[in-house]
Amino acid sequence: MKITIDDIPTKWFNILPHLPAPLEPPLDPETKQPIAPEKLLAIFPPPLLEQEMSDKTWIDIPEEVLKIYSLWRPTALHRALRLEEYLGTPAKIFYKNESISPTGSHKPNTAVAQAYYNKISGTKVLTTETGAGQWGSALSFACALFGLRARVYMVRVSYNQKPSRRILMQTYGAEVIPSPSDRTNAGRKFLEENPEHPGSLGIAISEAIEDALSSKDIKYSLGSVLNHVLLHQTVIGLEAKEQFKKIALYPDVIVGAVGGGSNFAGLSFPFIADKLEGKTKNLEVWAVEPEACPTLTKGEYRYDYGDSAGLTPLLKMYTLGHKFVPPPIHAGGLRYHGDSPIVCLLYNKGIISACAYRQTEVFEAATLFAKVEGLLPAPEAAHAIKKVIDIALECKRTGEKKVILFNFCGHGYFDLSAYDDFLSGRLKDV
Ligand SMILES: *Cc1c(COP(=O)(O)O)cnc(C)c1O
Repeated sequence: MKITIDDIPTKWFNILPHLPAPLEPPLDPETKQPIAPEKLLAIFPPPLLEQEMSDKTWIDIPEEVLKIYSLWRPTALHRALRLEEYLGTPAKIFYKNESISPTGSHKPNTAVAQAYYNKISGTKVLTTETGAGQWGSALSFACALFGLRARVYMVRVSYNQKPSRRILMQTYGAEVIPSPSDRTNAGRKFLEENPEHPGSLGIAISEAIEDALSSKDIKYSLGSVLNHVLLHQTVIGLEAKEQFKKIALYPDVIVGAVGGGSNFAGLSFPFIADKLEGKTKNLEVWAVEPEACPTLTKGEYRYDYGDSAGLTPLLKMYTLGHKFVPPPIHAGGLRYHGDSPIVCLLYNKGIISACAYRQTEVFEAATLFAKVEGLLPAPEAAHAIKKVIDIALECKRTGEKKVILFNFCGHGYFDLSAYDDFLSGRLKDV
């Protein structure tokens, strides 16, 4: 079953004014006091900073952004009938297919918006970091559309070992630099310690920010965690709500994989709004993470830095510590020591739940999904699928006919070597 709506939502949903408690502000890394907005203006353009702190519930999606969204939006709401049949569950399983975007994940929903606001604010170059390359390719694509230059600091091991997404970024015209590099003080420091340094996301963030601070024409862009990023992703959940209205259903359970929290938030926040208003009492919302990087399930709720060098503002979040180096699991997008402050607040207040899985059980779920539904999930998306299967099997035991919704946040066609490792028995739990 494929259900589509004719129109893309024309506004994003901002959950900030609806939170059960105010969000604690980001702190200046030097003074440990709430950071002055002027400091953030050195790295973000004014419209994005405004969205970061906005108290308006609805924010207009600019016409230019809507036009680009229409290349792949609205995304279909699919029903995974064959998975239901295979499991023999009375539950109904639905998913939003965000893998059909040009770069294969939900990330262009915010990349396009960020490139647009930078373009109209006079930015010439956008810098960012990327691990496996999902975010780097989304931003490179968006920059190409708006005539901005993209400069992507890519973690050196990925640069060397996972060339596919580097090539995709370069095809979009981006400059891709293996990090640590000799272009920044931060990079040079790590290279002095070890000329063959493999790099890390934390180092690449430090390099991209330092680069952005070097000129007013250069700004920095982040693909998750921040409020404005989550805001742009709500287009997913808003579409889903309309699609469910058309079939006179409403989800009982919503599931999403959480790295920094943006695809999870994008799907769930418009529904969580109903829960916060008391319109739906029993909605269960699950954030799924890897056991190897269990931010919500094992982290501490406190202020921490966003990068490993300690240069970014401090955010109040569940964290494994900014020095935590996650083991090299295949779901690269879920290897972050912290999480979005909004997602963390909702978890702390008991509005959402969290669970963690080992990577072998996640790949089992992924291959089952591929066999019955045909689509190959990104390893990140497969975390959500594992939880959905568990819930559906629980419904089989209890006879409950729950309506389950999850985010198919990306495809796995650039992750075939991870599947190869799994299929040949080389994939180990850490
Ligand atoms: C980047 C990425 C993630 C993790 O980021 P979130 O902000 O938590 O969504 C998850 N899935 C895919 C496919 C990604 O590319």
